Amino acid sequence: MFRVSHDIQEHIPQAVRAICDTLKDNGYQAYLVGGAVRDSLRGEAPEDWDVATDALPTTVLSLFPKTIPTGIKYGTVTVMLRGIAVEVTTFRSDGIYRDARHPEDVSFSTSIAEDLQRRDFTINAIAYDPEARKFIDPFGGRRDLGRRLLRTVGDPQERFAEDALRMLRFFRFMATLRFRPHRRTLAAIDPPRIRNVSSERIRDELSKLLLAKLPSKTLLTMHETGLLQEILPEVAQGDGITQGSFHRFDVLHHSLQALDSALPRLQLRWAALLHDAAKPMTRIEDADGIHFYGHDVEGEKLTRAILTRLRYSRELTEKVALLVRWHMFPIHSRSTDKALRRFIRKVGKENVLDLMEIRRADILALGRQATWAGWTHWETLRERLVEVMDSDATFAVSDLAVSGHDVMAALDLPPGPAVGAVLEWLLEKVLDDPQLNQRTRLLKLMQSYEKTPLVQKRQENTYQ
Ligand code: ATP
Ligand code: MG
Repeated sequence: MFRVSHDIQEHIPQAVRAICDTLKDNGYQAYLVGGAVRDSLRGEAPEDWDVATDALPTTVLSLFPKTIPTGIKYGTVTVMLRGIAVEVTTFRSDGIYRDARHPEDVSFSTSIAEDLQRRDFTINAIAYDPEARKFIDPFGGRRDLGRRLLRTVGDPQERFAEDALRMLRFFRFMATLRFRPHRRTLAAIDPPRIRNVSSERIRDELSKLLLAKLPSKTLLTMHETGLLQEILPEVAQGDGITQGSFHRFDVLHHSLQALDSALPRLQLRWAALLHDAAKPMTRIEDADGIHFYGHDVEGEKLTRAILTRLRYSRELTEKVALLVRWHMFPIHSRSTDKALRRFIRKVGKENVLDLMEIRRADILALGRQATWAGWTHWETLRERLVEVMDSDATFAVSDLAVSGHDVMAALDLPPGPAVGAVLEWLLEKVLDDPQLNQRTRLLKLMQSYEKTPLVQKRQENTYQ
């Protein structure tokens, strides 16, 4: 239990105060609401400020010189003032929700009490009047903040039926605030309802949840209710999948430990959570023990399917897919420089340190005390990789001292795939011996390209 501090005043930026003053000077009400009030009462400086008012959106647009009509239909106007953006939203009393998705109609209201009533959790339903220095807190939000208790405003079943996303927001706030769930609210979780919610809304809440300091405990609670199975069945299926003697945990618990251990960057958190997602589908047991052959290759496909389904950007999806694909990378602290260069080339320079992070999370999630020697190996490997990357070594065709034009001229080739093949072949040579990467040496080397038998070329192109 912590003390709820009432010195919210000191957190409020001048620009936010000025916006409230303008509304009031024009005869309207103005309150700070939502996450900013909640977080400043918790003693944390809020990032965004929300103002609620009885002024209609058109009025708000006319009262301030710089505005963006962010969500006029839902009553939200973004006011830009002194370099900050403040969302000003007209009081609402939401209409009927037919499909657990969106209110059928939004009706504006003139009462802050009505506006607070439509909000999701008691701790998010506190309003503050910065001028009168008064809280409006009809649902005991400050008391729940003090007890670190998360519960809906009103009947949880009704509130989740109105908008099923609130179930996921419930877990999101549990994880990020580290609050405990109110028993009745938790019991009202009704997983299949989440099917009515758009993937984009689910994605945005999931991202926030995964970036909490230690999300695993919340995800386990989510799994117990059956909601994880609805949203990420591939992860839920790791429950009870044992992994043999190296591991202390089953696949689900191992993945959640890895998640907690990964640095809080979205691509690392997703890669840690999904790195073994294909283990349940690849598991076999024979006389030698338990195996998950190809779980990295299958995991890459699964990752792409999951993140595409959740409508993540192509960029994030591909990044996470790559981290999952190569999380089993075979180099180690005693690998040759040549092997390190080949590895860097294979996964791309920009992914090398992220892969090392995934490896670190994976080791920590074995659930066994990694020996000191183990960490020395990890550190040595990381240092060596950084060294090789910082050197002038060549990792891509574009780093070569010759270009496609040079190849065409020297070998009398027309533009086409053959030119790329020669460049790749040269790169392979340079990976073995970085000294070769000089124009004259490469031009000379090119001449021997055609004499190299095809079989040998193929072998040279394979990794390791
Ligand atoms: P954060 O700090 O993560 O932005 P927040 O509380 O500001 O947290 P938002 O999603 O920005 O969360 O929403 C702002 C406020 O709007 C909430 O505090 C809550 O009062 C209300 N709200 C948001 N989504 C819902 C919802 N689905 N149902 C009811 N009220 C909601
Ligand atoms: Mg917010």
